[in-house]
Amino acid sequence: MNFLSCLLVNNPCYRAGVALKPKGIVVHSTGANNPNLRRYVQPAVGQTEGMGGKSSAALLQLLGKNENGNHWNGVTSPAVCVHGFIGRLADGTVATVQTLPFTVRCWGCGSGSKGSYNSSHIQFEICEDGMESPDYLNQVWQEAVELCAELCRRYGIPVSAIRSHAESHRDGYATNHGDPEHWFTRFGRTMDQFRTAVSKALAGQSEPAPSEETVQQVQRRFGFSNDTMAYLKAYRFAAALLKKLAEQP
Ligand SMILES: [Zn+2]
Repeated sequence: MNFLSCLLVNNPCYRAGVALKPKGIVVHSTGANNPNLRRYVQPAVGQTEGMGGKSSAALLQLLGKNENGNHWNGVTSPAVCVHGFIGRLADGTVATVQTLPFTVRCWGCGSGSKGSYNSSHIQFEICEDGMESPDYLNQVWQEAVELCAELCRRYGIPVSAIRSHAESHRDGYATNHGDPEHWFTRFGRTMDQFRTAVSKALAGQSEPAPSEETVQQVQRRFGFSNDTMAYLKAYRFAAALLKKLAEQP
């Protein structure tokens, strides 16, 4: 995941700052042909906070400048704000930008007959292109899978609680929209496939830790430094790798 932060500090939703305990995730797509993150995300004039340690000039260079003044770091109409966007940076690469703290309530999906997932779900938008490029869909899909896996891991969210906007409406907790399935289905993709991909990503993240005995065996055998051992132990498949190195004839 290519992860950046540009909190929308001038958006009234950010300023309202109502606490959220994340219990699920809503996946949206923008419904407009504009894959560029700069359409929605810009640092505010004079912004110093919430940019992941970057300066606003550096962030602006990555995002590109929105010349139309219609980004979301200010008052939007209708009032709207989400926790993040996935789309293209100025150089064309795909990235995720966090735009609200994940523990602040967003204004993302409106309400349905039973209430609103705004009070319980982290929500993000995938910037649509013209919905004709399989390459772009592949890239943003992968980025969204990795983002969801990270959020599920961090907040203990079950994969089954990842819902599209369309599903959220059917659940009774959002306005009647068709995103992002109206785009996914063009390429034969479904939300069930999306959730399966997130489950696989999560399984990959939780490989077993190597045993201390194996670690010591490898260090003795190859004379690796503690730094090298720390590096090896952090590798995703460390347990399998170290076992192999320990047992190698
Ligand atoms: Zn939506």
